[in-house]
Amino acid sequence: PVDRSPEIQEARLKLPILAEEQVIMEAINENPIVIICGETGSGKTTQVPQFLYEAGYASSNGAIGITEPRRVAAVSMSQRVAKEMNLSHRVVSYQIRYEGNVTDETQIKFMTDGVLLKEIQKDFLLSKYKVVIIDEAHERSMYTDILIGLLSRIVPLREKKGLPLKLIIMSATLRVEDFTDNNRLFSVTPPVIQVDARQFPVTVHFNKKTPLDDYSGECFRKVCKIHRMLPSGGILVFLTGQAEVHALCRRLRKAFPFQKNNTAGNDDKEESVEEIRTFKKSRKRKKVMTLPKIDLDNYSVVPVDEGDEDRDAETDDDIAGSDIDLDLGDGDSEEDEKIDSSLPLYVLPLYSLLAPEKQAKVFRAPPPGTRLCVVATNVAETSLTIPGIKYVVDCGKVKKRFYDKITGVSSFRVTWISQASANQRAGRAGRTEPGHCYRLYSSAVFMDFEKFSAPEITKRPVEDLILQMKALNIEKVINFPFPTPPPTEALAAAEELLIALGALKEPPMTGRLKQQLAAKLSCPISPLGRIMATFPVAPRYAKMLALSRQHDCLPYAITIVSAMTVRELFEEFDRPAVSEEETAKLKGKKARLLQMQRIWAGQGSMQKLGDLMVMLGAVGACEYAGCTRKFCEENGLRYKAMLEIRRLRGQLTTAVNSVCTDAGLYVDPKMKPPTEAQATYLRQIVLAGLGDHVARRVQAEELLDDKWKNAYKTALLDDPVFIHPSSVLFKQLPEFVVYQEILETTKLYMKGVSVVEPE
Ligand code: ADP
Ligand code: MG
Repeated sequence: PVDRSPEIQEARLKLPILAEEQVIMEAINENPIVIICGETGSGKTTQVPQFLYEAGYASSNGAIGITEPRRVAAVSMSQRVAKEMNLSHRVVSYQIRYEGNVTDETQIKFMTDGVLLKEIQKDFLLSKYKVVIIDEAHERSMYTDILIGLLSRIVPLREKKGLPLKLIIMSATLRVEDFTDNNRLFSVTPPVIQVDARQFPVTVHFNKKTPLDDYSGECFRKVCKIHRMLPSGGILVFLTGQAEVHALCRRLRKAFPFQKNNTAGNDDKEESVEEIRTFKKSRKRKKVMTLPKIDLDNYSVVPVDEGDEDRDAETDDDIAGSDIDLDLGDGDSEEDEKIDSSLPLYVLPLYSLLAPEKQAKVFRAPPPGTRLCVVATNVAETSLTIPGIKYVVDCGKVKKRFYDKITGVSSFRVTWISQASANQRAGRAGRTEPGHCYRLYSSAVFMDFEKFSAPEITKRPVEDLILQMKALNIEKVINFPFPTPPPTEALAAAEELLIALGALKEPPMTGRLKQQLAAKLSCPISPLGRIMATFPVAPRYAKMLALSRQHDCLPYAITIVSAMTVRELFEEFDRPAVSEEETAKLKGKKARLLQMQRIWAGQGSMQKLGDLMVMLGAVGACEYAGCTRKFCEENGLRYKAMLEIRRLRGQLTTAVNSVCTDAGLYVDPKMKPPTEAQATYLRQIVLAGLGDHVARRVQAEELLDDKWKNAYKTALLDDPVFIHPSSVLFKQLPEFVVYQEILETTKLYMKGVSVVEPE
């Protein structure tokens, strides 16, 4: 029996999924595999685990496991479910890559999909679990896809053993054919239960014109208009990245301050409710407005005719008689930048790198008398439901990482979203009452969007995945029941890299080319590969760890690998500032960081480790100072990244100790810099993992074209590549370098660079 509070009970009863509890539980009782589809916010993630718990599916010898593609969701959903059920975190727990609060008593466990994949490696039958729920399957993240493939085999195996495992796949969209119309995956098609959306209608307003590039500015103007002209209700803005999110937050806080001294960029200050109340009293509105009734069947309205913008609004009789222009128009208005303190707007950022305590703010009610405005990246599209959102402003873009299938060169690009994403975003506005979605692009542009985004597995290198699969003794990867298989060239590239790293046994090279390829796609794992697969990092980095026994290099290799794995160690100071004062501040901070980086780069042969030595020095200095927020802020380090590195160091140290039981490693907060000999050896280790990432400075005679000035040549690319300006080796231009990755922005830039000296 679950003891829920009356408020929680009331909120639950409003969720559409509650009406389906019996249908869902009957389907689960009678079928080993069930698919549940329901709009975001219908209650899948928070309620289905509770249904199962109440039906007795969790016990001391079998838990309910739920996987999420995003860490944010795994943490916040476990907290929410614990709260709803009035149970401790010891019973409803989470595990993500770096941390968790799982105990012996855990009966409901939220985790990232990567965590469950690692568990399958230790125990293929997942005997700890009675039920596994794969959540957000529509996102088609790489690990989710693989888990579904693996579980399609694990479920029948458990059945044979007489210890049945239930598999539940949950999706926010009805597009599940890749799972249902796929005989190789599930020989018996699983039942699909559709939860009625009970979504309120959302009126979609397209812009007449699509802004060429200043969609942030357009977002700003739209939010200003909504806030000034439309009735109360939260606003959710979709932008593409962290820097944009912060810039828009600052601009909005400046335009609608609710504290006299609430200056731009002052994120951390907790707003005082008292001060806000006084503002509430002084708040004036010229007109009291109510929203007209809009009765559309569906929020995802696609206009029938070309150029027939805003069809929904204009053809609705109720609106025709209304004097409020809900449409707001595309345009610029001179008034927008004017500071308006009578209308407090409670502006919150939301993106995945944001500290969890700041992320959690979006779930709380905004201070009385203010309007909530969340400026978010894609994380708000399906994983998290923010309460009280009535207006969505959608820039129509998303920032994604693109990889070249052959060279692995990656770039972050801002591209149009898919129609499915646009509809998901619009749907965020209709959770609690009818809402409005402002799309900052024309309906013609919308019609050109792809229908759905492609599954991740078809878009990125798969070497880490292939190593994991080989460690599970799946040799013929090509025969694996992928929901959607990766391209053959990506599989071949991964297999080749793993052979080069020594993780797979080289096949005897006979026969024609085609047979060679086939043989390569079925190479068994080597003993080194098995060790590498136990480290929770990409194969290249795992190889580095596996080689670091000599010269007491393990602690340094662990630190370098941790730092290379965690994104964005250093603060970004090149962002656009809102005031001259801020510009000066950013400049100062940047100068300080550059100075520190030169210090961290060390001397003598350490310097040849280049950017990797800077990482090592930064982590060393930060840990020496106790890894405090203060130290990070003063020295241009990202606090959250440093905490992640700390946890990963701990985790890798444990992993290494369990492989070499005599190593006796521990994480030393006062780690000394490496000796000359160690630094030299570390460069060789790095080269062993990144052997195909060597670049040579172009020789004078090759300087035919200006574009080759200061350029490097790599084996894989025809185009010139460059050392990134943020590298400590940027000015030095050594003859040979090895790089961590190539990122394409205005040019092809090498990041994480160190010096190679040919013997
Ligand atoms: P789904 O998984 O179908 O998208 P969820 O189970 O995540 O739906 O959400 C159901 C409801 O629970 C939503 O209305 C959401 O607002 C609410 N909810 C989820 N997490 C929280 C939270 N941390 N605080 C308050 N409400 C929440
Ligand atoms: Mg969910």
